[in-house]
Amino acid sequence: MNAMLREMKRTAKRCWLRCRPHALILMYHRVADLESDPQLLAVSPKHFAEHLQVIRNTYHPLHLTELVQALSSHQMPRRGIVMTFDDGYVDNLYNATPLLKQFHIPATVFVTAGLIGQSQELWWDELERLLLLPGVFSKELSLRIQGQYYVKKLGQFREYRQDDYIKYCSWNILSADEPTVRHTIYRELHNRLRQLLPAERDNILRDIGKQIEQGRNWRESYRMMREEELRTLCARNLCEVGAHTMTHPALSMMSQLEQMNEIQQSKSSLERIIEKPVTNFSYPYGGRDDYTPETIEILRQCGFLSACSTLLDVVFPYADCFQLPRLVVRNWSGEIFARQLAEWF
Ligand SMILES: [Zn+2]
Repeated sequence: MNAMLREMKRTAKRCWLRCRPHALILMYHRVADLESDPQLLAVSPKHFAEHLQVIRNTYHPLHLTELVQALSSHQMPRRGIVMTFDDGYVDNLYNATPLLKQFHIPATVFVTAGLIGQSQELWWDELERLLLLPGVFSKELSLRIQGQYYVKKLGQFREYRQDDYIKYCSWNILSADEPTVRHTIYRELHNRLRQLLPAERDNILRDIGKQIEQGRNWRESYRMMREEELRTLCARNLCEVGAHTMTHPALSMMSQLEQMNEIQQSKSSLERIIEKPVTNFSYPYGGRDDYTPETIEILRQCGFLSACSTLLDVVFPYADCFQLPRLVVRNWSGEIFARQLAEWF
């Protein structure tokens, strides 16, 4: 009975979707072959090329800016697909752009402007590097988070060897359990750090780093794009740049003044670098609790025309341009990607 009901609902949804023009915004982060990807952020170059082939064959790819213009004139293209990338990873230029050019498919890259030109990794990559890559902690892990002690005994995993890393590198946040205490700590700290202001979050990461005997350097392939790379990225107008704050906070935790600084500074520093207006924004983390009505008001005041969330839906003609929904894309084969997209059209 339940199965029948589900099928009826699915059929009703398909009919509803078929009779109204709409578009779908896709959300990527990285195009790279990664051994370990606990946050499931990377799509392999092979799969990414397959995704682009599906889009080219079946859909109507367009720039986010074009979609926003279409929304304001209430003229939605049929089967429209918009590609977006969050954060500004360097592989967006070296791995994704050549393929986007090959298939002539535009994309918008939302850049965390405070990390441009830095070797530093984004905080969730840093957490992975410290905990889930081979290394040795001097003793048990001991931190102070928001005035409270966080102390964990590491036992046999005080030292994490290369063979441990190989054994567990396919683990990710969707896995039901944690194979070692390091994975438990990673999951717990990820949840805690996401809710902290950037300065405190970075202090804790530094503190973890100090407790490791055999440190590791930042990974070159995990850095964000540099200034000249951003200019190259958007040189031919196939890719456009959007803002994604300076330090990747959940904006809802910040005062209005702090939000204004994060938003305004990211816009002006990106515009200075690329010498073009930056009018699209994406909320860090992008959930309904990660921004507030004040955030939207600040975006309008700063001159943005749109903002992408991670709410899951298609974009209908009267969609709110400051809460555009997106579909998070995983490392799916072309076949699975095609099936996922077909669900929405
Ligand atoms: Zn982000």
